[in-house]
Amino acid sequence: MVVIGLGSNLNDPARQVTAALGALAALPRTRLIGHSDLYSTAPVGPQDQPDYVNAVALLDTTLDPLALLDALQGLEQAAGRQRRRRWGERTLDLDILLWDQASVRLPRLRIPHPEMTRRAFVLRPLLDRLPDCRLPDGTPLADHWPAVAEQPLHRLHRLEEDRFAD
Ligand code: ATP
Ligand code: MG
Ligand code: MG
Repeated sequence: MVVIGLGSNLNDPARQVTAALGALAALPRTRLIGHSDLYSTAPVGPQDQPDYVNAVALLDTTLDPLALLDALQGLEQAAGRQRRRRWGERTLDLDILLWDQASVRLPRLRIPHPEMTRRAFVLRPLLDRLPDCRLPDGTPLADHWPAVAEQPLHRLHRLEEDRFAD
């Protein structure tokens, strides 16, 4: 199973993330198994930008990791993403967080996502769906929660459960 982190803080972020879940479900050779609720979260990096909406999606895919990254970057572009500054505002960010128990170290792609354990906006939705999730080194992801628990975030309205699953 592949875990994707979704984020948006421009142009109706909840709509961006909800639409992106639908777009993930429509990717070739890919099935959307489920997703988390949406969370409203404070920005990391520059503070002079709007709050984010974040969620995670769980996929099954027979795409290879770089092909999935290409597809995700295509969806970011289709959502009108422009890169202005590091960790700056964006209409849509789609990051590959985990890929089964695999580790990937390529110039374009690192899995697990190197920042994921330091981010409440990743860990909270991920642990909601996969409380027993482990990193490739065997560490329970939940071990990282206490260190980020103070980062501000709150759950938005619940999405209809697995609304986009087949
Ligand atoms: P962060 O990666 O810290 O969350 P970001 O998502 O804002 O920051 P982007 O501008 O979306 O960063 O992506 C920068 C580059 O990161 C991409 O061009 C991509 O090649 C690379 N990258 C490396 N590992 C991953 C990954 N696991 N998922 C998505 N992109 C990745
Ligand atoms: Mg990101
Ligand atoms: Mg990204």
